Amino acid sequence: MSSSANHYRSPLRDIEFNLFEALRVQDSAFGQGPFEGMTEEIARDALVALDRVSAQKFGASLVPGDREPPTYDPETQQVTLPQALKDAIDAYHEGGWEALALPEALGGFGATPSLHWGAFEMPTAANPAVPFYAFGAFIASVVYRLGTPEQRSRFLPRMLDEHWGGAMVLTEPNAGSDVGAARAKARPIGGDIWAIEGIKRYITNGEYDHAKNIMHLVLARPEGAKPGTKGLSMFFVPKLWIDEDGRTHDNFVRCIGLEKKMGLKGSVTCEMSYGEGGVTRGFLAGEVHDGIRQMFHVIEHARMGVGCKSMAQLSQGYQHALAYAKERVQGADLMRATDKTAPRVEIIRHPDVRRMLMAQKAHSEGMRALCLFTASIQDQVALLGGHADPKAKALDRLNDLLLPLVKGYNSEKAYELLSLSLQCYGGAGYMQDYPIEQYIRDQRIDAVYEGTTHIQSLDLLFRKVARDGGETLRGLLGRVEQSLKDAEGGEALADVRARLARGLADVQGIFMALMGKMGESLYHVGLQGNRVLAALAEIVIGWLLVRHAAIAQAKLDDGAKGSEADFYRGKVASARWFCRNVLPGLTLTRKLVEDSALDLMELPDGAF
Ligand SMILES: Cc1cc2nc3c(=O)[nH]c(=O)nc-3n(C[C@H](O)[C@H](O)[C@H](O)COP(=O)(O)OP(=O)(O)OC[C@H]3O[C@@H](n4cnc5c(N)ncnc54)[C@H](O)[C@@H]3O)c2cc1C
Repeated sequence: MSSSANHYRSPLRDIEFNLFEALRVQDSAFGQGPFEGMTEEIARDALVALDRVSAQKFGASLVPGDREPPTYDPETQQVTLPQALKDAIDAYHEGGWEALALPEALGGFGATPSLHWGAFEMPTAANPAVPFYAFGAFIASVVYRLGTPEQRSRFLPRMLDEHWGGAMVLTEPNAGSDVGAARAKARPIGGDIWAIEGIKRYITNGEYDHAKNIMHLVLARPEGAKPGTKGLSMFFVPKLWIDEDGRTHDNFVRCIGLEKKMGLKGSVTCEMSYGEGGVTRGFLAGEVHDGIRQMFHVIEHARMGVGCKSMAQLSQGYQHALAYAKERVQGADLMRATDKTAPRVEIIRHPDVRRMLMAQKAHSEGMRALCLFTASIQDQVALLGGHADPKAKALDRLNDLLLPLVKGYNSEKAYELLSLSLQCYGGAGYMQDYPIEQYIRDQRIDAVYEGTTHIQSLDLLFRKVARDGGETLRGLLGRVEQSLKDAEGGEALADVRARLARGLADVQGIFMALMGKMGESLYHVGLQGNRVLAALAEIVIGWLLVRHAAIAQAKLDDGAKGSEADFYRGKVASARWFCRNVLPGLTLTRKLVEDSALDLMELPDGAF
């Protein structure tokens, strides 16, 4: 794809369908509580405007960010972004798009999480590196939540007015998935100020030349604190320290290397050093030794972002594959394959290409539905007073249960299905003339960072399912049961609901089988965890697609016309295809979990 071509394809119609037709956030959340100022009209206008700027500005930076990626100068220890990325970041700030995620008290838009995550898809689809550079605004909201009044007034206005960057700083050479192995140290040096020392690696946005300052959220261990995650505290560490009188000083936050990556090259990944050559100062966020709990709010936000990113990239891959399949002419219709005089057809006429296209369509719509359903639960949590409010506890737990599905399932499946996007192109898909090969490289990281897929599975099964005795899980599956009882979609969808019901029974069977196996050994959770996570995600997605199909069927029955009728027919088709082609796989998963065996764990390492 030439560097001037804009690859972005709008996903707006389906985002609007999810928000305003399926979830009806205009009734369930807009105009209430913290979202009092939000209306359907404002929300729709914002989505249309963001779609436009994604097409015009952000999309144009995707290829330059990959082909002329950021560079590192070891002399100055600075990272320079290519001009196209700087232009995209400027456009982001000029539009004030980072304010969408901010509370009104910080000059934000007062958007519901559902609107925020719906909107997030568009710049992310256009160039997934771009929204990362606006992460400073989210960190400002963390400073607002956890900072003292003095810290807030010293840092917050400048963070927002000057568009500071933001970095999440956990990983170290010896502490990846095992975050609790972190060795970075913290020592109090007066008041709430601490000296931070250590090396961190793979830090997104640790250093770059297009932000006046960068706020690093660093996990470090106060001297004498116990080992493991419980001994970690979280610190706000600006790249440039700000004195009480507002003057800035070097804070000895250094980039000591820039990673050369497979993809997502427009996003900088830095090795960082703190406290080398001088004192790096940071202020403690909240209470000491509360770091992992504080950081979890940030991690959850990031996990949601990664799941949405995967969905966004798959949706782009699908739209490109679809457009290509409608143009590329090759071979005759299968029914006339032996007839040499038969006309050549567009490849979309071939059954196997249709199969591949529908797999991408149904999954990308299903993943979007999963993301935005989860976001709508976050709306309700906020309306009930937020995480800390006991009234919100049940829905907060539901959100917690859904997050590993959003992150774990979307990131794994999008990679698998982007491979089908490429397959639809044949050889052309392997070429840089088209964007698919870059999508694949840019998306592959999603199953790794913010906790690998297996870390998501362990989180799901131990923290989200076992810890409350399966109550939240039963509540979620109970919602599926209720839709079946209500016969949503009527007679037209009876066959689809029957498949959903069989899938639900299989998922219930999978959890029963796993519980039984856990009594034998916890290794079964490790061996089966990823497929159990996928099974739960698939039944939730199947359920959401069936609900969408019921809405679409009603629109068709009401006489929808033209492209709208096609859109709704496509919705019914997605649900039908998913329930017929994906949910039967749950029967196999159930069998595999029931037959889970420990021989793999007994095999000597040398036999691998
Ligand atoms: C491009 C990029 C950007 C990143 N950005 C950031 C950032 O901004 N901030 C930050 O702090 N980090 C960042 N990371 C780090 C990222 O979060 C880690 O790479 C990730 O958590 C995995 O850690 P690891 O690489 O050390 O792999 P490891 O932890 O060594 O994992 C290797 C394999 O072992 C498996 N494994 C590990 N432990 C277990 C276990 N207990 N049970 C079962 N399986 C296990 C994993 O699932 C994986 O398959 C980034 C990484 C990359 C590549």
